Parts: sequence; structure tokens; C-alpha cells
Amino acid sequence: MSFEVNYDVTCPVFNIQTYSIHDGPGIRTTVFVKGCPLRCLWCANPESNLAKPQLMTYSSKCTGCGQCLPKCPKGAISIGPYGEGESLKYIAITDRTKCVDCGACVKVCPAEAREIAGKTMTVREVIDKVKKDKLFYDGSGGGMTVSGGEPLAHPDFVANLMAAAHAEGITTCIETSSFGSREAVDKIYPHVDLALLDVKHMDNTTHEKLTGVPNTYILENIRHIALDLKVPVIIRVPTMPGYNDSPENIIATAKFAQTLGDNVLVNLLPAHKLGESKNESLGIANRCTITVPTDEYMQSLKKLVEEAGSPCKIGG
Ligand code: SF4
Ligand code: SF4
Repeated sequence: MSFEVNYDVTCPVFNIQTYSIHDGPGIRTTVFVKGCPLRCLWCANPESNLAKPQLMTYSSKCTGCGQCLPKCPKGAISIGPYGEGESLKYIAITDRTKCVDCGACVKVCPAEAREIAGKTMTVREVIDKVKKDKLFYDGSGGGMTVSGGEPLAHPDFVANLMAAAHAEGITTCIETSSFGSREAVDKIYPHVDLALLDVKHMDNTTHEKLTGVPNTYILENIRHIALDLKVPVIIRVPTMPGYNDSPENIIATAKFAQTLGDNVLVNLLPAHKLGESKNESLGIANRCTITVPTDEYMQSLKKLVEEAGSPCKIGG
């Protein structure tokens, strides 16, 4: 199929991570697009939620020097107390109701205590970075992964970026919630070599409570990707103790994977707390209590998946 790549399509991107080994096979570069229609309680990348640049602040780095205060055009910064007891210190506090994420304060901070997450990039700018590591991809069976945020929220950009990777001889992988329009799926997937598809809960009502959206489109899209488009898929479960780790849900997920083809792998991704410090940096309250599961517990869930008839791996 011929496809003329448009290298000028743009998208907000919040990270391009090189030497990634958890987002598909081999050594990869993972491109994280910004903007996601889900609001998972445990979101590990809250800076990916909004499709626009956002201020992040790092309290541990701030020295309270005050250089940022006069630079803010909205008067959003003041010096105030942070911590308590022996760790009490005075730092820059940002009023998020006034901040417009302009980045003026970032430029003057000598302590790198502030940054703007996300910038608009073209397909050309991204692929120029990605192709620098082609030797590593070729030697390891790796390639480029597009993650997020939600790639389906940016179908033109992601389709063109994937096609640009193929034009460079780089294989492609997508990491997605599969929540998006069928049109977006059909635009992107002709350029995808492997799909890493999150299934956060098999029960529709619970899925909506945990993520803010129902799972109906998600499961339908996954079936379409695997069975109609015949793209190789791996089902991934971000395993959150107390939220989606019941034996019923784990077994139902394994059974669903079996409807997608022979030996479809189920990845169980152990919960972690990286999102919590990012929430603080964005001025967002944590929305759930995250319990990091033990190795032993993850092995017990793996056994459940295997006994239900699906191959299983812990981790990505
Ligand atoms: S990003 Fe802009 S508006 Fe927000 S605190 Fe910094 S200078 Fe003020
Ligand atoms: S955020 Fe940076 S510039 Fe502002 S008070 Fe802290 S260290 Fe100084």
C-alpha cells in the first residue's frame, strides 16, 4: 500500500525516551504523545492527560530564591512554607488557578525546579530523533513505539509518524488504551507492526469507574485490530491491587485474550507509584491509594492467567 508521508503534521509530545526496553521487543525509542480521553485513577503519566503544555514544579529542587516571582505575568507565584519540622523550608508556590503555563518562570529558575511538560513537534522533528538509534533497533529487534497519552487521539500525526518510521526501515509498535474512533484505528493500524493493548477491567461499569470511560469501544476495537486487521497483539493489564486484580477479572481477561487468536500473550504490569510525584509536580491530588504488589503476588496472578489457558509474562 502506498502512503505519502506528511512530515509537517504536528502533535503535542511530552517525552521521547531512548533505550526503552519495556515498550515492545528489543531496544526501542518510545514517543509519548500528549492528550488522553481516559482518567485512570492510578495514571502513571498525568502530564500526558491534557493535549497542551503544562507547568511542572519540583519542590525538592526549589531553593526559594524568588527569581521566578517577578517574571510571572499572572502573579501566580508566591513564597510559602513547604514541609514541616526539620524539613520545613520556604519555596515558590504556584497558584494553579492563575497559571497559564506560559513558561516564563522556567526560563529564569537557576535550580531547574520548574519545567514545561510537552511541546508541539512535527513528524519530521520526531523521526529525525528516532532514526538516530536505528543501529540499536537493527541489532536488538527493536524499533519505535508510540505511547501516551493516547495515540488514537492523534490519528493523523501517529499514522504519518508510523509510516515515516517504516520509510526508514524501522519497525513500529503502539501502546494504547484502544479508546478512540474506528476511523482513527483504521488510519493508524496499516502502519503498525505490533500492538500493546491495555485492558484495565473486563466489567463495563467498573471500567468506567476506574478510567472515566466504558470499555465497550475498547473491546470492540481490540477485536477489530486482532481479527479484522490481523495486527499481532499483546494484551496488557496494569495490575492495580484492590481495583482490577480479582481472580474473576484476571481470568476474564485471559479468556478474552484467547478470543483474539492463538497464544495471545497477556502481560501483567505491576503497579508502581511514579505517577504520585508527578501529580504533586502538576498540583493534582492523588485519586487512589496504590499498593505495589510483591513478586510473589504477581506470580500468583500469572498462574491464574496460565491456568485459564493464556501465556503470561510479568512486566512489559
Ligand atoms: S508558567 Fe507562566 S503563568 Fe505559570 S507560574 Fe510560570 S510564569 Fe506564571
Ligand atoms: S522555582 Fe526556581 S526561581 Fe523560583 S524560587 Fe524556586 S529555585 Fe528560585
